[in-house]
Amino acid sequence: MHFDLTEDQQLIKQTARDFATRQIEPVAAELDKEARWPTEIVSQMAELGFLGMAFPPEHGGGGMDNVSYVLATEEVSRACASCGVIMSVNNSLFCDPLLKHGTEWQKKEILAPTARGEMLGAYGLTEPASGSDAHTMKTAAELQGDGSYLLNGSKNFITCGPEAEHTIIFAITARDGKRVRHTALLVRPDMEGFTLAPHDEKLGIRAAHSCTMYFDNVKVPKEYVLGADGKGFKIAMNTLDGGRIGIASQALGIARAALEKAIAYAKERQAFGGPIANLQAIQWMIADSDVELQAARLLTLRAAALKDKGARHSAESAMAKLYASEMCTRVTHRALQVHGGYGYTTEYGLERHYRDARITEIYEGTSEIMRIVIAKTALS
Ligand SMILES: Cc1cc2nc3c(=O)[nH]c(=O)nc-3n(C[C@H](O)[C@H](O)[C@H](O)COP(=O)(O)OP(=O)(O)OC[C@H]3O[C@@H](n4cnc5c(N)ncnc54)[C@H](O)[C@@H]3O)c2cc1C
Repeated sequence: MHFDLTEDQQLIKQTARDFATRQIEPVAAELDKEARWPTEIVSQMAELGFLGMAFPPEHGGGGMDNVSYVLATEEVSRACASCGVIMSVNNSLFCDPLLKHGTEWQKKEILAPTARGEMLGAYGLTEPASGSDAHTMKTAAELQGDGSYLLNGSKNFITCGPEAEHTIIFAITARDGKRVRHTALLVRPDMEGFTLAPHDEKLGIRAAHSCTMYFDNVKVPKEYVLGADGKGFKIAMNTLDGGRIGIASQALGIARAALEKAIAYAKERQAFGGPIANLQAIQWMIADSDVELQAARLLTLRAAALKDKGARHSAESAMAKLYASEMCTRVTHRALQVHGGYGYTTEYGLERHYRDARITEIYEGTSEIMRIVIAKTALS
């Protein structure tokens, strides 16, 4: 295993850093405050190829690798965690399963424009009464004589749902006693019977809109079935293996923003005759945060490198997400503490990082579910 970035990876990292610092950072607090969808930044990310990074150019992608995707997502999330998750959903939760399971028509008409960022995609697994235990979903689709499906049910918390042109909806398509078959369907908001609720009011990642979706006899043509009938649950779970790399990268970015601010503040703020950086209590908070951030980055890059090699990475992605997200909560907590009362106000932006951190422990599988995935592999 080597730890050096290639020239291409270094260039992508630098490009992402320059872009995020110049274009995203100055408006991030405002986007958060107003819970405003970052239309212009999404277009700029599309121009840079960040909405379809590790996909072949013939399918609209940037032809980069997953290590580059981690590097760029960290930089974008350091400036704005909402922009980071928009990037992650489009790349990992939408384009990835389209590349793996899409028909030639779906790759040409849906994957390519989505990877280029001309349209956006979303992923709909969660339902009001079915989150971690996704098997208990109620949304169902009935096969019709012409090969289309009639979809009924609802999905909630769907990130980018209000803005996406297509959402992958996982639905039950057959029951045989206790055995249930699930199928993945590509659903568009202009399909009759599809309604979107207003976007959710949230603690953090407020500019990355999410919403509930309702399906009332939505006719989904057969061209919009993703993968074969009955393969939906496998597609949903495999997709999350990649998605967790994106969320781990988002956590790295949020934590780095907080740690950088804590270091700068500690050097400036005076107490008891000198900068608080001279106090061992502050130094230890910074040291612990630095170690944990770097350890999380190595876990995340390892998971991405395995994905690039085409190797199994379920446990490694879960480890990266578990460690990076919990690290992010600890690091943002300490960074806020270093800022004292000023950390609690909006002046330094610490409270935004602190709020944004929390979601990384919840979506795409909670920390508890990550431990189950990891333990299953360890005990197998
Ligand atoms: C802002 C936001 C964006 C989201 N975006 C999307 C999206 O784009 N697409 C999508 O499909 N979903 C999305 N989600 C849903 C998210 O993935 C779920 O909220 C998450 O998986 C947890 O499900 P739940 O909320 O139903 O909690 P529950 O599953 O009800 O869990 C409640 C608590 O019980 C614990 N728990 C549950 N089962 C176990 C177990 N077996 N062992 C130990 N503890 C357990 C959980 O860890 C948690 O602490 C999003 C959620 C949010 C808040």
